[in-house]
Amino acid sequence: MLTQAPKGTQDMLPKDAHRWQTIESNMRRICALAGYREIRTPVFEHTELFQRGVGETTDVVQKEMYTFNDKGNRSITLKPEGTAGAVRALVESHLYADIQPVKLYYVSCPCFRYEKPQSGRLRQFHQNGVEVFGAKDASVDAEIIDLAMKLLNANGIEGLRLNINSIGCPNCRKAYHEKLRAYLEPKLPTLCQTCRDRFERNPLRTLDCKEDADKLTDAPAMLDNLCGECADHFEKLRKYLDGMGISYNVDPRIVRGLDYYTKTVFEIITDTPNGELTVCGGGRYDGLVEELGGPSTPGIGFGMGIERMIMVQDLFGVAPQAPALYDVFVVTMGDAARMEGIKLVAELRAAGVRADIDHAARSMKAQFKYANKTGAKKVVVIAEDELARGVVKLRDMEQSAETEVPRADIVGIVTKDH
Ligand code: ATP
Ligand code: MG
Repeated sequence: MLTQAPKGTQDMLPKDAHRWQTIESNMRRICALAGYREIRTPVFEHTELFQRGVGETTDVVQKEMYTFNDKGNRSITLKPEGTAGAVRALVESHLYADIQPVKLYYVSCPCFRYEKPQSGRLRQFHQNGVEVFGAKDASVDAEIIDLAMKLLNANGIEGLRLNINSIGCPNCRKAYHEKLRAYLEPKLPTLCQTCRDRFERNPLRTLDCKEDADKLTDAPAMLDNLCGECADHFEKLRKYLDGMGISYNVDPRIVRGLDYYTKTVFEIITDTPNGELTVCGGGRYDGLVEELGGPSTPGIGFGMGIERMIMVQDLFGVAPQAPALYDVFVVTMGDAARMEGIKLVAELRAAGVRADIDHAARSMKAQFKYANKTGAKKVVVIAEDELARGVVKLRDMEQSAETEVPRADIVGIVTKDH
């Protein structure tokens, strides 16, 4: 128990730190290019936020939330996704009063869902994501899709499939729900209990049921029943994507697992040797800000699973190489030389060179061996003789070449080829 992490959780180990950091820095860099700014919201929120935001009839709210009462007897939930918290912050801090659109991104946001742990499905996972508030035009839908594709490409993930759909707005959905109910009614006895419950409250959800969706492949599609405004929005999105050279597939069966979506929904999928894997999901949520107590403000966003990206990098062999731990390792012999070595390490680090010295009383031979193991490209050697003459030896580990240089010049020489 004590030495085993809870089911569905994963440690991020130092050997993989560079991978997370690269994914995070790509996110920051690419989002900043498009005027997005970072937001960080709490790991937990009032349970009601997700019940209202994500939707009572979703799997997330019905089955997957980590909900508990705190010591003050408030119902608290660990966030299952990033959008509801961002909307709450937007409303609470009146971010919508700033120039619009308000473009936000978040990095490595921890998300918690009590799901059955399996490959690619964790109970704590992390998402990078964006949210844009105050922009109605389909150009923003295209912009975030483009961002998502660029982010995945920047992380070495190619061969992506983009599926888009429109699930309409409350206006067109009403009439569509009636159509869908008429289609579902005769099938009700063959559907699972959850679908039967959803039949009344939110029939669109039945199309996202893990058990029954396959029985409903000939159900009427929302896409064929859009109102003029929604149809026009979808048409524009397609035009923008075409214009930007982003290929896509229209999949009228995408519903998405969260209820707040309106109009555009999309998924980005990779085909791996183990089957398809959704790495990114998103869509528009024009009613959510108002639903959560703010002024009517359109919104759109996506969430991208970081562990999924890492999995896909592994499956395709495109994981970035771990950088060497040090640029320079300082090898010394004798107490006085060691003291000089410690001073040199501090000077190197101050000059921006990653450097270290032995901390385990190793012999000179073992210090070299260790230096090699760390991947250091250069070794500086200081023994009594060098110390006395005011020089050090600089060894290039790749070319096994050694030169003697004045102690006073070594930092300059190392930083010059650095
Ligand atoms: P899925 O169809 O895989 O269940 P979802 O529709 O529930 O995904 P979203 O809520 O849109 O996913 O979350 C966005 C992204 O977060 C997903 O595309 C995926 O990369 C990642 N993700 C979602 N749930 C998990 C999980 N349990 N473990 C790891 N990553 C996840
Ligand atoms: Mg899911």
